[in-house]
Amino acid sequence: MNTMTEHERGALARRLDGARVAAEIRREVAEGAERLRREHHVVPRLVTILVGEDPASTVYIRSKVRACEELGLTSEHHPLPASTPTGELLALVEECNRRADVDGILVQLPLPGGHDEARVIEAIDPSKDVDGFHPFNVGRLFSQQPALVPCTPAGIVELLEREGVEVRGARACVVGRSNIVGRPVAELLLQRDATVTVCHSRTRDLAAVTREADILVAAVGRPGFLRGEHVKPGAAVVDVGINRVTDEREVRDLFGEEAGRRLKSLAERGHTIVGDVHPSEVARVAGSLTPVPGGVGPLTVAMLMKNTLDAARRRRGIN
Ligand code: NAP
Repeated sequence: MNTMTEHERGALARRLDGARVAAEIRREVAEGAERLRREHHVVPRLVTILVGEDPASTVYIRSKVRACEELGLTSEHHPLPASTPTGELLALVEECNRRADVDGILVQLPLPGGHDEARVIEAIDPSKDVDGFHPFNVGRLFSQQPALVPCTPAGIVELLEREGVEVRGARACVVGRSNIVGRPVAELLLQRDATVTVCHSRTRDLAAVTREADILVAAVGRPGFLRGEHVKPGAAVVDVGINRVTDEREVRDLFGEEAGRRLKSLAERGHTIVGDVHPSEVARVAGSLTPVPGGVGPLTVAMLMKNTLDAARRRRGIN
């Protein structure tokens, strides 16, 4: 009998299709929004606030506004100049807190220098905190109470479940311990009975730790950081990273024989988007892998829409 695994035979990792799962969640949200409109005459409203003109933030806001339009939610965007005093931003947040027609408030992060992000987040009514960053929601998540959960971590867990990756009893390793990705995704995996390790910049012998993982989540913020040597053969790898790479040599190193399309994007736009995982090396070791782009990114937006719908329901006591 041939006992070699697919990977020992040189197969490439299966694609964990974030775009497909995101489309499924979006369909569910659109149906939920339609039901809410029909049965309760309510259309959920998301307010987005962008301070300054950071290009990446502008793109993210645009995709959130577009998603609202596509799914039958209402959006209302408030662009503010970078020079806006914190007091003015807080006054806008408080006005949205008071308005009965506003279900979700999203202040796009990072805020330009000079603003106290924690103060702004804490000013948002927790029942409208669709990013799930308010300490009230963080506390509820970590004490296993129903909460608005940060969108990227919630999307990662949806992806694993809907793509048939066994979480219960699995060894999971999260590289990164930020409040928006690393910590909450570790908590969500723990709640689903994974045995979770969280790594960070002070972790000793990172590869020895990550190689133990059946599920490896990379949220580091460094292009191609996790290499083949970091991955257990056959593991499910979720690449959260969104990094702009502008150097042709780096693109060739990351994508090997598949570099052609990326080099075209580099020539046309001056950059290509790369995750925190070395794509060509890890694809040869992992059992499954999220692509970048088209993996975790679309899930984040889909879960924001779901949070907005959930907030609209919960605020009105509708199940
Ligand atoms: P972050 O706040 O900068 O956190 C990065 C984490 O990586 C930190 O905990 C840091 O450790 C750790 N780290 C840095 N260098 C390391 C090293 N050499 N070895 C091990 N760990 C190391 O980043 P983030 O906000 O979590 O975002 C992570 C990535 O995900 C970024 O690329 C970001 O753009 C992307 N992202 C994507 C989405 C999406 O929708 N797809 C959403 C959010 C973020 P220390 O704590 O010790 O410094």
